[in-house]
Amino acid sequence: MVFELFKNEQHVCLMFSDLADEGAGEVVQSNQFLIVQDGNGILLDPGGVMTYNELYIAMSKYFSPKKLKYIFASHADPDIIASLPRWLTGSETKLLISALWSRFVPHFCPRGKAEGRIIAVPDQGTLLPFGSTAFQILPAHFLHSEGNLQFYDPVSRILFSGDMGASILPCDRVAPVTDFAQHLPFMHSFHTRYMVSNKVCRYWVNMVRAIDPEWIVPQHGAPLKGSLVIGQFLDWIESLSCGVDLMTQEMYTPPLGMNVSL
Ligand code: FE
Repeated sequence: MVFELFKNEQHVCLMFSDLADEGAGEVVQSNQFLIVQDGNGILLDPGGVMTYNELYIAMSKYFSPKKLKYIFASHADPDIIASLPRWLTGSETKLLISALWSRFVPHFCPRGKAEGRIIAVPDQGTLLPFGSTAFQILPAHFLHSEGNLQFYDPVSRILFSGDMGASILPCDRVAPVTDFAQHLPFMHSFHTRYMVSNKVCRYWVNMVRAIDPEWIVPQHGAPLKGSLVIGQFLDWIESLSCGVDLMTQEMYTPPLGMNVSL
């Protein structure tokens, strides 16, 4: 499924939501994003190896993958960027990723493949000139990864938020959220465990309120659109205890029995 999140004559933002074979629930649903601006193309969080072929074909209808200028990775998880070696072979792209991951991510690739093609983005983020606009690569440290970035497009006013705002849904249920209270059960346990602490959630909320995006679009599940739903999400995550807030000594004790079926 392809969602057209934004389109005008110079600028298109697309979301692909059903490209990875979900393998009867063994693989988490994920979204990939293409932005085309004045004939330049950038892919955001293009996914793992199983997504590569279908994304290559699906995006070809809108932009020649060979001419991709950049791939942006919010962090270095397998569902975000394990397809890196395929994209480095199949296109001219460079990869934008946190400086914390820039020397680790070449481990996805054969020796030498990533040489000169990884751009390390520092902790404070950066502006990224692109066609007639400039994107904002934003800091989102520890949300959830140590070196974590997000991507704001000021033309469409979409904040591509990586794992922040993610919901765990089947791919046929990935449509913009209309009722936040009904949607919350699909977000709650993910954020409670994966987001690192309430402190960093609050810093992030303050930044996002100042940006005032029209959309928050995560890498898993349904987009959040409009001030009502986004306001409800920000109020919720701002007060959520999560990650290290919830760890106790009992969680760091050796197992007493065999807890897996082998
Ligand atoms: Fe992740």
